[in-house]
Amino acid sequence: MTDEQVWNNVLEALRFRLNRQAFDTWLAPTRLVSFTNGSIKVSVPNLFFADWLKHHYLSDILIALKDITGRELAVEFVLAEDRNQRAKPVVEPVPAPVASAQFRLRTRYTFDTFIVGEGNRLAWAAARNVAQNLGKTYNPLFIYGGVGLGKTHLLQAIGNAALGIYPGLKLCYTAAEALFLELIQAIGKNTRLEFKDKYRGLDLLLLDDVHYLVGKESLQEEIFFTFNALQDAGSQVVFTSDRPPKDIPTLQERLISRLGSGLVVDIQPPDLETRVAILLQKAKLEGFDLPEEIALYIANRVRSNIRTLEAAFVRLIAIHSLTGKPVSPELAEQALKDLIHPEQPIDGNQVISVVAEHFQVPVQELKGLKRTKRIALARQVAMFLMRNVLNLSLKDIGYYFGGKDHTTVLHAVEKINGLRDKDPAFSSILEKLSRQLQRHPS
Ligand code: ADP
Ligand code: MG
Repeated sequence: MTDEQVWNNVLEALRFRLNRQAFDTWLAPTRLVSFTNGSIKVSVPNLFFADWLKHHYLSDILIALKDITGRELAVEFVLAEDRNQRAKPVVEPVPAPVASAQFRLRTRYTFDTFIVGEGNRLAWAAARNVAQNLGKTYNPLFIYGGVGLGKTHLLQAIGNAALGIYPGLKLCYTAAEALFLELIQAIGKNTRLEFKDKYRGLDLLLLDDVHYLVGKESLQEEIFFTFNALQDAGSQVVFTSDRPPKDIPTLQERLISRLGSGLVVDIQPPDLETRVAILLQKAKLEGFDLPEEIALYIANRVRSNIRTLEAAFVRLIAIHSLTGKPVSPELAEQALKDLIHPEQPIDGNQVISVVAEHFQVPVQELKGLKRTKRIALARQVAMFLMRNVLNLSLKDIGYYFGGKDHTTVLHAVEKINGLRDKDPAFSSILEKLSRQLQRHPS
């Protein structure tokens, strides 16, 4: 086996172990640099990759290496010297079926461009399942979640995927609002029958933003009957909404129970890791080499809306290319300024600095591995505060401490909870620190 083959075999093995998204994003862009006695050197597009691979995939890599070479090897990640490797898109845009446009589906909204994280995993899995088994598994599928969290993207991905699987599929994607206008027109022009026929002959109906049905009795009525007809015919229906069926006021009871009769799944805001991955993917798709620290900078400040996250990136690139200014945190700040209004950028790093100051330990040690009693306690307090004051996920918290496992974080949070209950003096320290953070605007 040549050295090159060794690494290629490792990649092949990992392609099977990891999900495709993870593999394409983090492993596909790696290249073998050298393979000497006990160690293998691999180049990566940027330092963020090196960090990410170390924290998330090192054990998978080591296991694969051992399987393939029969030896325990060390792995070192180095920055690619080849500009091509650095700038190259890691996720190839997937050509969507040509038919997509005719159905008003965006070709960009596919499963391949959808980054999966904790918050959207269930919705993503259900959507994929439905696309592959139209009408057979979850029918209807009802996806709900806040603005800009990927509902339309997933809904259209179902359409794009199904078109590739079922030739000649009759599908319709429409937003509830557009459907309403169409219905009004049909009533005005006396073409209500055609309207009915059009929707009742479908194999797949993708109806976006059904919260718009609030107070639209006639449309609710129409949807109820259409839906019944479709279901009788074994056709698939997928709905999205910004809230679950039971929370859509003025929705008729029978429609509520209809909408909720299949599978109802929600999409939660993405965690930090997912936000960074979305930004990096977006950048790669645009062929732009987004520095890791900038992706992190933006992802730290835009937390609950992916559309805003993408808009921040687009503005950044626009300002960069218009002014020629280098892409820096300052430029990112400028790009973000008009996008997010009352900024609340407390992030984990502020918690760390407040805690480090209180316990009189250096920030680097707090983030590091040292386990002296004082440092370990300070670290646990920081984790506790990130959880309680910032509501960060366990995973996001771990990220601030060199990618610590979520169970380690959970253990820390529980331990501090226990101490707080037992020790009033300790409890008042925690309170003081929390207050300090809440006052801390940035
Ligand atoms: P919603 O319909 O929930 O308001 P959209 O589906 O319009 O949100 O998503 C907003 C933007 O964010 C779109 O450009 C979409 O492609 C992108 N987006 C959302 N979720 C993801 C994801 N998980 N991976 C990649 N891009 C995403
Ligand atoms: Mg939408």
